[in-house]
Amino acid sequence: MSAIFPTYNRFDVHVKHAEGTTIVDQDGKKYLDFISGIGVCNLGHRHPAVKEAIEKQLEEVWHVSNLFHLTIQEEVAMQLVDHCDGDAVFFCNSGAEANEAALKLARKYTQKTKVITFQQSFHGRTFATMAATGQKKIHSDFGPLLQEFKYLPYNDCASLEKEMDENVAAIMVEIIQGEGGVIPINPEFISRIAELCQKYNALLIIDEVQTGMGRTGKPFAYQHFGISPDIITVAKGLGSGLPVGAMIGKNILKEAFGAGVHGTTFGGNPIGLSAAKATLSIVFQEQFLEEVTDKGDYLKLKLTTSLEKNEIINSIRGKGLMVGIDCKSEVTEILKLLRERGLLALNAGPNVIRLLPPLTVTKAEIDLAVDLINDVIKEYSHVTTL
Ligand SMILES: *Cc1c(COP(=O)(O)O)cnc(C)c1O
Repeated sequence: MSAIFPTYNRFDVHVKHAEGTTIVDQDGKKYLDFISGIGVCNLGHRHPAVKEAIEKQLEEVWHVSNLFHLTIQEEVAMQLVDHCDGDAVFFCNSGAEANEAALKLARKYTQKTKVITFQQSFHGRTFATMAATGQKKIHSDFGPLLQEFKYLPYNDCASLEKEMDENVAAIMVEIIQGEGGVIPINPEFISRIAELCQKYNALLIIDEVQTGMGRTGKPFAYQHFGISPDIITVAKGLGSGLPVGAMIGKNILKEAFGAGVHGTTFGGNPIGLSAAKATLSIVFQEQFLEEVTDKGDYLKLKLTTSLEKNEIINSIRGKGLMVGIDCKSEVTEILKLLRERGLLALNAGPNVIRLLPPLTVTKAEIDLAVDLINDVIKEYSHVTTL
């Protein structure tokens, strides 16, 4: 009997050890990890530079709280603002907390409460971020939700234009809907969102919790488009496995988040930030990001050429190393078969296989993964169409 709340359906894999792109279970079986702790271990497991930084920090200070000055907070904040449109950082411990901070800041700054988000979005599990999430299954049985969120269809300019007015405090949006099915935003749609936010004095909040930290080949995924968000939220890949999150905002917002307005005990913890500093100094390098783009294109092309004729495949999409294989049936069984053969992959919604390999993945590992996916999908589609 487990003493853990059964909030997660777990794989039948007992993890013992992990390094690079490999996870080893208690029986010594090796898996190729194309999940990366859900887009967290972007440098692979236990990257030596991050390990060294954490070990060095362990010798200096672990925690003192935000009542003190810590140079490492200034350093990581500078790394972040140097690579995006924001000017100031609020550190926290998770994606939900980063979005929670963004929503509170948007309400306080605009003195409005209506927030537009999108159907099948995912923004977190706290009361505010659960309410921001446009998925009924995540809301059900929790009683009245925080008001006033409006869930519009994603990539639909007409419904956005109809809904948008001066009562809107903010629009919160993902550049690629991750949990919702690896659905990339249309360029016209994100441009229209940015224009309408400007027009009606609403804040543009980009949730980069999954797409940030180099995942799509840019430091932040919004940088594929000519927009300038007011708030950017990050977490997952920021600390290479240590719990760190951040909300990054423009200068004009600083005054609304003055002393005593918002806070968190652990946010900006030096151990977490030592991991973030080492991680950012690698993932924000131009050469590194070019390789992410190159390997992402390679992965998508290889998947497309080997799978496009298969009758169960709808489409293969995504950007950089965030790739979805949209299938005509549920993918649970396919993912199980892949695990048996030694490949760890995730779903995104019921019908999409989501691949989030470490950004350090090699082309040889991509070849291996695609061969396994190809074999399993071929066998699976034979069985199911018989
Ligand atoms: C995972 C995720 C979150 C929530 O992050 P937590 O760290 O689990 O709270 C929020 N937004 C997006 C886009 C995510 O992928």
